[in-house]
Amino acid sequence: MQSGYQDISKYCAEHGVALLAVSKTKTPVEILAVYNQGHRIFGENKVQELVSKYEALPKDIQWHLIGHLQTNKVKYVVPFVSMIQSVDSWKLLKEIDKEANKKNHNVNVLFQIHIATEETKFGLSYEEAEAIFSNPELKDLTGITISGLMGMASLTEDEQQIRNEFRGLKNFFERYRQLQGSNIKLQTLSMGMSSDYKLAIEEGSNMVRIGSAIFGERK
Ligand SMILES: *Cc1c(COP(=O)(O)O)cnc(C)c1O
Repeated sequence: MQSGYQDISKYCAEHGVALLAVSKTKTPVEILAVYNQGHRIFGENKVQELVSKYEALPKDIQWHLIGHLQTNKVKYVVPFVSMIQSVDSWKLLKEIDKEANKKNHNVNVLFQIHIATEETKFGLSYEEAEAIFSNPELKDLTGITISGLMGMASLTEDEQQIRNEFRGLKNFFERYRQLQGSNIKLQTLSMGMSSDYKLAIEEGSNMVRIGSAIFGERK
């Protein structure tokens, strides 16, 4: 067992920041070791893995999906997921809404914003997110609540660049936080991973997503 959990959880509590333990590739036994220390919020990036861990593990775990979601897989996660952090298109948002309404659910979602320079990372540009916020049809989506934003900074040693990317997202978050709407309640700013969570917290994150620093490196 890695000893990272206690330290990180304490650090987050002291800073008033929520901690999502990212358990992708880790076994149910490894997850239970963290669960048994009192942790209840876990994140996965693949639908199939998320569903099978949900089935195998205690039902008081709050599961967050943090990886790219294809519209044809939405129906598998909507029944139990507590947040989808990786909404990156209007089409996906509409599909989540449709499935949520079928199940009489309301799903909390975050817009994933592309803040890194790498091209491989998914996410909306600021302009695309703005277009969704100003879409007149948004108010008709009663099965979702847009509860915040998620972003991943570039994989770089350049601390200033990472800070700038986080700061840009924080500014955007503050701007849209003013927006009123029955399904828009921006509260969560999910930014920061094992390598950059302290920077992210300094730049205004209120939820960090941490995998390897808790569970050890992934193979
Ligand atoms: C894997 C992953 C993390 C956690 O990464 P670590 O570097 O292991 O902390 C955070 N966010 C997303 C979206 C991920 O896919």
